[in-house]
Amino acid sequence: MSRRVVVAGGAGFLGSHICDELISRGDEVVCVDDLSTGRRSNIEHLKTSDRFSFVEADVSEDVPIGGPLDAVCHLASPASPPAYLARPLETLAVGSEGTRRLLGLAGKNDAKFLLASTSEVYGDPFEHPQRESYRGNVDPTGPRSVYDEAKRFAEALTMATKRALGVEVSIARIFNTYGPRLSPGDGRVVSNFICQALRGDDLTVYGDGSQTRSLCYVQDEIRGLIALMDSEVTGPVNIGNPDERTILELAQKVLEVTGSRSNIVFRPLPTDDPTRRCPDITRAKTALGWEPEVSLEAGLKATVEYFAKIAAPEPAGMSQDADRDA
Ligand code: UDP
Repeated sequence: MSRRVVVAGGAGFLGSHICDELISRGDEVVCVDDLSTGRRSNIEHLKTSDRFSFVEADVSEDVPIGGPLDAVCHLASPASPPAYLARPLETLAVGSEGTRRLLGLAGKNDAKFLLASTSEVYGDPFEHPQRESYRGNVDPTGPRSVYDEAKRFAEALTMATKRALGVEVSIARIFNTYGPRLSPGDGRVVSNFICQALRGDDLTVYGDGSQTRSLCYVQDEIRGLIALMDSEVTGPVNIGNPDERTILELAQKVLEVTGSRSNIVFRPLPTDDPTRRCPDITRAKTALGWEPEVSLEAGLKATVEYFAKIAAPEPAGMSQDADRDA
């Protein structure tokens, strides 16, 4: 059955892949993005479809979209640490006011609302791996709080709207995701390492590289998000890959996959950088029948091919001093 879906943040990394998937299954997509971190090039290929339309707008200010609608996906937010640290107030606004407006749009049209939340709600976790019941260890005034607390507030607002007004909602907690269309300049670890390796530059490991992340390939992540959107599961549901690696191991893997002879260098660890992160995905498996399928090796190969094609520009830095209290 064809549905009409709003994808807020639809020109971003994850948003544009959701648009692709919805269009390919026959849905009508209204992509809304203010292009602050999203990119026109991510959606250019969709403009030939008569089921795709693009609205340039900041959802914190206005959501100029009429009904009828079947679903509203909220992926609008800067998502990489350098991007949200450069736009602290905008990040808080899109998590709060942006979420309120998009929930209003869903409520008005009797549409399903999907919130793209994050593993950052767990902060620097004391529980490992992280289950959805874990309440998190977030510094509410630290530099990362602009993202973490915006998403925590967005979750609270989403649940309150369901309870008070009966809007049907789902909350996904997205763990680190990588793949084609990661923005080469946004400073995330996978895009930085691959661009550095392809250029023959040093790979910049922050801290001693013993901190861990669990990386999910974009195709798996999108399948999980759409399964959640289509379900009656409220969540929150962790959508991530439990294949946990240290950052140093990741750097070595990138060198192996690219065949690069770059060196690995160590740089200061950013403030409040979580030491471990790994999802418990029992809920996603049992409630949605979802689990990731793409190995780190295969996912990295596909991502390297993408970056090789777009000729790896200068990666963004993340200096400790600038960090962030600025
Ligand atoms: N990181 C790194 N080198 C880089 C970029 C990031 O060592 O060039 C580290 C960062 O400190 C963190 C991890 O890689 O421990 C993941 O960083 P990312 O910005 O991708 O996402 P986060 O999980 O911190 O939101």
